[in-house]
Amino acid sequence: MYVLEKAPAKINLTLDVLYKRPDDYHEIEMVMTTIDLADRIELVSLNEDCIKIESENRFVPNDERNLAYRAAKLLKETYQITKGVKIYIEKHIPVAAGLAGGSSDAAATLRGLNRLWSLGLSIERLASLGAKIGSDVSFCVYNTTALAQGRGEIITELPAPPACWVVLAKPTLGVSTQSIYQKLNLSEVNHPNTTAMIDALKNGDYLSMCRELGNVLEPTTVSLYQEVYQIKRQMEQSGADAVLMSGSGPTVFAFVRQESRAHRIYNSLRGFCDEVYVVRMLGYQEPLD
Ligand code: ATP
Repeated sequence: MYVLEKAPAKINLTLDVLYKRPDDYHEIEMVMTTIDLADRIELVSLNEDCIKIESENRFVPNDERNLAYRAAKLLKETYQITKGVKIYIEKHIPVAAGLAGGSSDAAATLRGLNRLWSLGLSIERLASLGAKIGSDVSFCVYNTTALAQGRGEIITELPAPPACWVVLAKPTLGVSTQSIYQKLNLSEVNHPNTTAMIDALKNGDYLSMCRELGNVLEPTTVSLYQEVYQIKRQMEQSGADAVLMSGSGPTVFAFVRQESRAHRIYNSLRGFCDEVYVVRMLGYQEPLD
């Protein structure tokens, strides 16, 4: 017996850090949306009591460090499951990119094992289990557009963004989220207007969405990695309506309405950046020009 699940990437429309909490976590506020760049997760039932991870991508760990492994382990322990599972991860989302690839794999594993093992758990229950694995896992369980608060585990669904094309570019460097948070100086940050972004989504207002994009981590990552700044500038000069870094980076994305402009930006980055993608957001509302 086996099941398949898609594990899509996310991008941040906003990322704000409000303060450092007594438990050492940061209190954050993020508007995130899901894009159609996805890993493919295949879950195969095993009779022996074990968890096996397989992937052809050499950057994907095949042990406890893998968030999908932790998701399976958590379900097995919580619900005393004695069956085993082989988790095959076909990786399409760049690793350590700020696109929540590992978190999405964990979320897809939770959803898929819920089916494979007939656990009958609600999405809300899966999301609260996901919070024990990592801050972005709860959001990824829903695969939607949402406001994430707290450590990232308090999810309020929002309307899908107005239709547009998304060009993603990831320079060949991996960024450690933890190190960016450690270097962040909260007294100097320019906070995005989260409420204005939520209003832009509620009104389906593309230009306001572009205007309100903001990520407090971007200046810190840019100060460490010049490439991020260069990609941003290249995208802006090639006709992007708006450009932002996702998560702690280093992936940068650009929004445009016309497909031809998306391809112009894509072409302008080839040779300059190894991993470039043209994708759509999931759940978009209206057809494009
Ligand atoms: P975060 O913002 O949570 O750091 P990210 O989206 O920037 O995540 P990921 O692709 O999730 O980055 O990878 C971060 C690290 O997590 C990698 O260096 C990798 O070793 C580890 N990892 C754990 N599970 C996975 C997985 N299923 N796929 C990819 N990387 C994983």
